Amino acid sequence: SFCRGFMGATDFLLQNSEGYEHQMEQIDLKSLTLEELQEELVRRGEKAFRADQLYQWMHEKLAEDFSEMTNLPKAFREWLETEYEYVTLEIVEVRRSKLDGTCKYLFRLPDGHVIESVLMRYHHGNSVCISSQGGCRMGCRFCASTLDGLERNLLPSEMLEQIYRIQTDSGERVSNVVVMGTGEPLDNYDNLVRFIRLLTHEKGLNISQRNVTVSTCGIVPGIERLSEENLAITLALSLHAVTQEKRRELMPIANRYGLEEVLRACGDYFRKTGRRLTLEYSLVAGANDSTEDARELAKLAGPLHAHVNLIPVNPVTERDFVRPREKIIDNFKKNLENCGINATLRREMGRDIDGACGQLRRKYMKRSGKGGDEC
Ligand code: SAH
Repeated sequence: SFCRGFMGATDFLLQNSEGYEHQMEQIDLKSLTLEELQEELVRRGEKAFRADQLYQWMHEKLAEDFSEMTNLPKAFREWLETEYEYVTLEIVEVRRSKLDGTCKYLFRLPDGHVIESVLMRYHHGNSVCISSQGGCRMGCRFCASTLDGLERNLLPSEMLEQIYRIQTDSGERVSNVVVMGTGEPLDNYDNLVRFIRLLTHEKGLNISQRNVTVSTCGIVPGIERLSEENLAITLALSLHAVTQEKRRELMPIANRYGLEEVLRACGDYFRKTGRRLTLEYSLVAGANDSTEDARELAKLAGPLHAHVNLIPVNPVTERDFVRPREKIIDNFKKNLENCGINATLRREMGRDIDGACGQLRRKYMKRSGKGGDEC
C-alpha cells in the first residue's frame, strides 16, 4: 500500500540519520524504489509517469543533477530541487594503476565523509568494489578499514553512486559489483538489500544479481535473513581460519557467532538459494598457512560446495601480519585442489596505487588531518 511504502522509505532515513541531519529533513530520491517514487509524486499531485522519467534519469542515465533532466518541465525540476534530496558523490581523487588499469576512487559524501571504491578491469568485464559503511566496527585484526571504528552507515543512494560515478567517469560499463570495500554490509542490512534491488532493477543499470557479491565477516542473523530475500546474489564468507580458536584471534565477530554456527548458516543459505558460496581466506604467514590448515579448509568447503578465494594478506602499516612466501601460497592452493576444492588466488590489483583495502582513504584522512593519526 501507499502508506507502507512511504513509511518504509522514511524509516531507513531515520535509522541512518546519526550525524546526518539534513538528510532527515528531505526524502532521498535516489534511495526510493520506482513504486515508492510513484506514490510520493502522486501524493504531491504529480502525474505518475513523471516518476518513470525521473527514475530513468537517476538510475539509467545517471544524471548528476536535475538540470540534465531536459524532458522534465523546468518548474518541476526546480520544485524537485527545493523539496528533495538528490545525493551525488564528488570525486576527490582518482588513481590509475600503470600495472593493470585498476582505478581507485576517493569520493566525498554530501556530509563531508570520504570513502573509497575500486574499479577493476578483468577479461570478463569491469568490476567495482564498493564500500557499505564509512569505517567499520568489526575490528578484524588484519584490516585497515576498522582502525578508527565506524563513522556511519551508507545510504542506498551512496552505495549506488559509487558505481554510477565510476561508470560515468570511466565511460565504461560496469558489469560486476562486489560489496567488499570498507564496512560490514550485513551491519547495514536494510540499506544493503534496498541498494541491491535498485542496482539490479530492470529500469536502472539492470546489473544481473548473479554478478553481485556480498562479503560478510559472518553475522549469522544477517545471513539467515538474506537467504529469505529471494536474491540470486553470491554470498562470500570471510573465513580466514579453520578452527574457532584461531578465528577468534583474527576476527572478534567470532566471539559472537562461532565457526560452527556461521558455517551452518552458510549451508542453509546455499540450500535455500541454490547459490554457490565463496569462502575468503587471507593467508597470513605462520598463522593459517600450513598443510594441515589447507586440509581442514577443504573439509569445511567440500560439503558447502564452496569456492575458495585465497588472498595473501595485504600488509597494513599498523599491523605486523606478513604474507606467506610464494611457494607456501602455491602449495596451499594445490593442497586444496588435490582435495577437489575449487580455489583461486586473488590476483593483486593496483599494487602501485595503494590497492589494499581502505589504505588510500586512510592516507587521505591522515593528509587532511581527519583522524588516522596513529599511523
Ligand atoms: N566486512 C566484509 C567486507 C569487507 S572486507 C567482510 O569482512 O567480508 C573484504 C575482504 O577483505 C574480507 O575477506 C576481509 O577479511 C579481507 N581483508 C581485509 N583486510 C585485509 C588485508 N589486510 N589483507 C587481506 N585481506 C583483507
